[in-house]
Amino acid sequence: MQDRLIDLHTHTTTSDGSFTPAELVALASKLGLSAVAITDHDTISGYPEACKAAENTGVEVIPGLEISTRYHSAVHILGYYVNINNQALLSELSWIVWERDQRNERIRALMREDGLPVDYSGMKTRFGDVVGRPHFARLLVEYGLAVDVRDAFRRYLERGQRYFQARTFLSIERSVEIIALSGGIPVLAHPFQYRLDEPELRELIEYCMQHGLRGIECLYSGYTEEQSLYLKHLASEYGLLVTGGSDFHGSAKPHIQLGCGTGDLAVPYALLEGLKEEQNKKSLKK
Ligand code: AMP
Ligand code: FE
Ligand code: FE
Ligand code: ZN
Repeated sequence: MQDRLIDLHTHTTTSDGSFTPAELVALASKLGLSAVAITDHDTISGYPEACKAAENTGVEVIPGLEISTRYHSAVHILGYYVNINNQALLSELSWIVWERDQRNERIRALMREDGLPVDYSGMKTRFGDVVGRPHFARLLVEYGLAVDVRDAFRRYLERGQRYFQARTFLSIERSVEIIALSGGIPVLAHPFQYRLDEPELRELIEYCMQHGLRGIECLYSGYTEEQSLYLKHLASEYGLLVTGGSDFHGSAKPHIQLGCGTGDLAVPYALLEGLKEEQNKKSLKK
């Protein structure tokens, strides 16, 4: 029998994806996925809408998020089954939004200097609370200054370009901790994205484990079977859970499809069962 398939890494319009949470669930249902985790950048506010949309579809929706942090370079931490009403988590997330607003104001000022008026409160209405460079990229495309989002990044928004402004990140230890504290399972996202060699990757994993890391994203869009196998070995060596997902963003990353990623991703439902067992163990300990 064909394994039931899931996707544990997706973005919606609540952060920088192009599908609303309801549209994403509808797509998951159309594709026959059994479960999707909503893992927007730095926010959990898309979950209620996704949950409602999932009623009577047979698609299971998992509350999640993806926090951007820094280790030596960018590192992303996924969190699953966080309590979306946890005050400590909500307060960290509102700090992140506040910090983004400060950075975005600097981008807006630079664009204005160049004669490109940006209505920031209009951006918030249009794009939601978590406004990031991908949204500025869309405006630049609309201004006719770039052909698409990727081109806008390359010309204007990457480090070293005219509208790049650095952000301050929540620390990696706090990111892992706050996910665990709010009842969730912290997972290291897409480990090959960080260009670390093996000793560095191990150091990162061990450091995160000291703060409560419980899993590694081993299946991911574009990762070869060999790469996934290597990560699964690491997970097993460290006693960590294995997760997987596409990092679907809709038209913001058009080469990535929900569920199957760049074509050959297949995340089995069994990985979600692992997360659920972990949740049950935690509630028994309480
Ligand atoms: P921010 O956190 O607002 O600085 O924006 C970071 C987000 O921009 C990441 O999560 C990526 O999804 C997206 N991003 C970064 N670099 C690029 C790029 N070269 N092309 C398209 N999207 C990018
Ligand atoms: Fe993104
Ligand atoms: Fe990521
Ligand atoms: Zn992501």
